[in-house]
Amino acid sequence: MIPIEEAEKILNSITCQPEAEEIPLMDALGRVLAQDVVSRLNMPPFNKSAMDGFAIRSDDNSKKFKIVEVIAAGSVPQKKIEKGQCAKIMTGGMVPEGADRVVKVEVTEEKNGYMYLTGEDKNINICYLGEDIKTGDVVLKSGHLVRPPEVGIIASLGMDRIRVYKKPMVGIITTGSEIKEPGEELEKGQIYNSNSYSIGAQVLRVGALVMYAGIVGDERERIKQKIGELLGECQMVLISGGVSMGDYDFVPQILKDLGVRLHFDNVAIQPGKPTVFGTRGNGLIFGMPGNPVSTFTVFEVFVKPVLYRLMGYWYTPLLLKGVMKKDFRRKRGTRTTYVPVKYDNEGFVEPVEYHGSAHLASLAQANALLKVPTNVKEIVKGSVVYVRQI
Ligand code: AMP
Ligand code: MG
Repeated sequence: MIPIEEAEKILNSITCQPEAEEIPLMDALGRVLAQDVVSRLNMPPFNKSAMDGFAIRSDDNSKKFKIVEVIAAGSVPQKKIEKGQCAKIMTGGMVPEGADRVVKVEVTEEKNGYMYLTGEDKNINICYLGEDIKTGDVVLKSGHLVRPPEVGIIASLGMDRIRVYKKPMVGIITTGSEIKEPGEELEKGQIYNSNSYSIGAQVLRVGALVMYAGIVGDERERIKQKIGELLGECQMVLISGGVSMGDYDFVPQILKDLGVRLHFDNVAIQPGKPTVFGTRGNGLIFGMPGNPVSTFTVFEVFVKPVLYRLMGYWYTPLLLKGVMKKDFRRKRGTRTTYVPVKYDNEGFVEPVEYHGSAHLASLAQANALLKVPTNVKEIVKGSVVYVRQI
């Protein structure tokens, strides 16, 4: 059994070399940049009015200004502003020559072709050429995750296509002779397959693709065949169940038979101890214990960061700082435990009712996982903790 930090170190040392492709910008949400985004222009591209108002000279102490033209956003000013003059200007309009400030319309009065100042506007109200971005600036670096602001930033630079990393294909296979697909009738001793669906959803949420191979009973040859098939087509294969100490837990041996190099097969994590990780060529394989909360947690802690790397992104989970609302106690501290908790709007952290790693429904009440390090058996009410959002 290795400590969780060791497992994370092993996973971080795996090299991932995702391929790149060029796609339309509208499809880029959730993808990772495979190119630096370099600006071909200044932003703003000209001195731009930040207000609806009047453009004047700051060395002009007049009280009355002749309006020499009206500048709409998108039009080019024709006149230079001299003392005693102004141009009526709209937000986004180009500041005319001679003018170096804009007074907002709220402190002015317009009468018979003249503008009179009725109050004071201390602001300059000009967005200067290139103040946000300059030509040649690297605005976004390769490896940057594209969220809605990034989509907008790329568009603002005039680009309608972008190079991103390809979505990795993730194969999912569920083992277990007792497992039935939702929609079928359950017979005695059987349970529904939730793992394929929750794992599939976790994969899709990261932004990768799913190839679902279905359920295979605990039969060595069939499991081997299915894993072999998936390994041929996917960059990552996720196997649910069959990794524990039971008589029918064949997965680790099957992986070895398939030529997979096992990097670890027991981690001091709770839930999720029998997790197996291996590689074959560029293919990454995780064998995850079948209890649904284990599967979910193992994905969050171990699989998700590596999957993001297959997409070209170095993911680190965002930790939220909170305060324990109640005492947390456990009997043993031999493993690092992830406890499903509710993080509320006031920053309080409360473990949800949880009966163990089969209790998937508990996760519906949780929005974060609390990491309880090895050897820590108690976290008292009022302690400051950091939780990982789920
Ligand atoms: P295993 O890791 O195969 O020993 O399975 C551990 C526990 O998780 C058993 O109670 C299984 O019935 C349950 N389990 C395994 N696979 C699934 C699945 N796909 N969906 C829901 N529960 C599962
Ligand atoms: Mg099983």
